[in-house]
Amino acid sequence: MSHLTDIEIARAARAKPIQDIGASLGIPPEHLLPYGHDKAKVDQGFITSLSDRPNGKLILVTAINPTPAGEGKTTTTVGLGDGLSRIGKKAAICIREASLGPNFGMKGGAAGGGHAQVIPMEDMNLHFTGDFHAITSAHNLLSAMIDNHIYWGNELEIDERRVVWRRVLDMNDRALRDVVTSLGGVANGFPRQTGFDITVASEVMAILCLASDLQDLQRRLGDMIVAYRRDRSPIYARDLKADGAMTVLLKDAMQPNLVQTLEHTPAFVHGGPFANIAHGCNSVIATTTALKLADYVVTEAGFGADLGAEKFMNIKCRKAGLSPDCVVLVATIRAMKMNGGVAKADLGAENVSAVESGCANLGRHIENLKSFGVPVVVGINHFTGDTEAEIAAVQAYVAGQGAEAVVCCHWAEGSRGITDLATRVAALADSGQAQFAPLYGDEMPLFDKIDCIAKRIYRADEVLAPTAIRDQLRAWEEAGYGHLPICMAKTQYSFSTDPNLRGAPTGHSLPVREVRLSAGAGFVVAICGDIMTMPGLPRVPSAEKIMLNDAGAVTGLF
Ligand code: ADP
Ligand code: MG
Repeated sequence: MSHLTDIEIARAARAKPIQDIGASLGIPPEHLLPYGHDKAKVDQGFITSLSDRPNGKLILVTAINPTPAGEGKTTTTVGLGDGLSRIGKKAAICIREASLGPNFGMKGGAAGGGHAQVIPMEDMNLHFTGDFHAITSAHNLLSAMIDNHIYWGNELEIDERRVVWRRVLDMNDRALRDVVTSLGGVANGFPRQTGFDITVASEVMAILCLASDLQDLQRRLGDMIVAYRRDRSPIYARDLKADGAMTVLLKDAMQPNLVQTLEHTPAFVHGGPFANIAHGCNSVIATTTALKLADYVVTEAGFGADLGAEKFMNIKCRKAGLSPDCVVLVATIRAMKMNGGVAKADLGAENVSAVESGCANLGRHIENLKSFGVPVVVGINHFTGDTEAEIAAVQAYVAGQGAEAVVCCHWAEGSRGITDLATRVAALADSGQAQFAPLYGDEMPLFDKIDCIAKRIYRADEVLAPTAIRDQLRAWEEAGYGHLPICMAKTQYSFSTDPNLRGAPTGHSLPVREVRLSAGAGFVVAICGDIMTMPGLPRVPSAEKIMLNDAGAVTGLF
């Protein structure tokens, strides 16, 4: 049983030199670009040299509709990587980098937890290897070039009221959501209203995570729409000649970061797009590299399976030509209870019947995941206080769905607590059962793609979209964007757009409020509900407790 905080456990671990971790994957030391002793980037030339190698098995970790605290997808991804290593498999994990802003807001890092963490966790949760800084700079370079272009005569005829490219910062700062720029007189340009988003919401982040190499990165950056003319024709980043310099700023950030878990399983931690207006998974380049170097690659998709796994399959896998071999659906007893109608304050007490009714949520996710043609196993992430009867109820339900639910105790015990799940996952991935296919074809009209996700994944009866939205989607089809996949932005707490409608709701409608074209990233975002792209800090931000102790070590970071 663990009484230590995450940071105490992480700090007590003895990291191996990063060259040893690289060597375990067959990366020669000259192809590692070390950032200190325990972090390195993997050199692009080496990655290119791997292209003819066969791929290992790809395992996705996703979850049921979560509680606000998170269900332990990252913790399970890390634990499962260590579990596979423990049973003698050559494994690696791929997860997202942490956004700085939220770390100073609410408690909860991005490196996993307990005895299933990636180290060095302080670095990973703070500046790490500077990738987010590079993305912020590349994004804001383009912002500066837009205003500069207008200032010097506006040859492209940018309509200053229709500049859609905002600015970004990796901080939770609600004061910057809506701002007016260029105040202070003629020398400062033309005042206009704009705003800031958090860096992880930048389209540049989504592009870095979907690009296959630097050429593809530059092409996608050039394809981004930054503004419109009075006649509504789009202006691209390429028209401003910004794509070259942006690529220069991003060239190091494009190379995946290698670190290790507490038990020295190699961990690629790279990229971190938002899971609402973007697709919410680590970079394609990290995943494809890991698949060339390890036999089993465990990766995570943000939010519950209705959003995270759907986008992983329909956006990332489709676009990168990846094909998952097995899915682990993480469930916790407390989230089953919440989906069964129990209030947050009452989650501590045993409640088998609430668990049983919450199982409907689990069942629907199992069915949805199977519809992608990939075998599913449920991982019950064990929390202190889960009772035997509650666990048995979930296992019986899952067996009735033709799947298996395996209890895992990696948070408390590390790899020792998750060997059963690791064995099951390896067997399923090796079974050759997977016959992955995305949910819809590229050629399906954009509105029908939204309709398909709404009906087949959310089980909504209908999609409600005003004529203006349907017209916009048709206009994009005519402009050549009809083949793009859809990136759904809705609440993660329910299959529906109402966060309080838990379990497995039916009879609901999906209202689409807005659609946005991310032409560089290569998807159309359908916004259903209120989506925040610049978070704020809570009344008592965790920043108040984060400080250096007398020994110069960080404390208060989880
Ligand atoms: P997700 O990736 O699903 O958002 P995380 O893996 O980041 O979730 O976990 C969220 C939080 O829950 C972390 O602070 C983690 O330490 C904690 N946590 C995860 N699993 C357990 C567990 N079995 N017992 C106690 N705390 C846990
Ligand atoms: Mg996570």
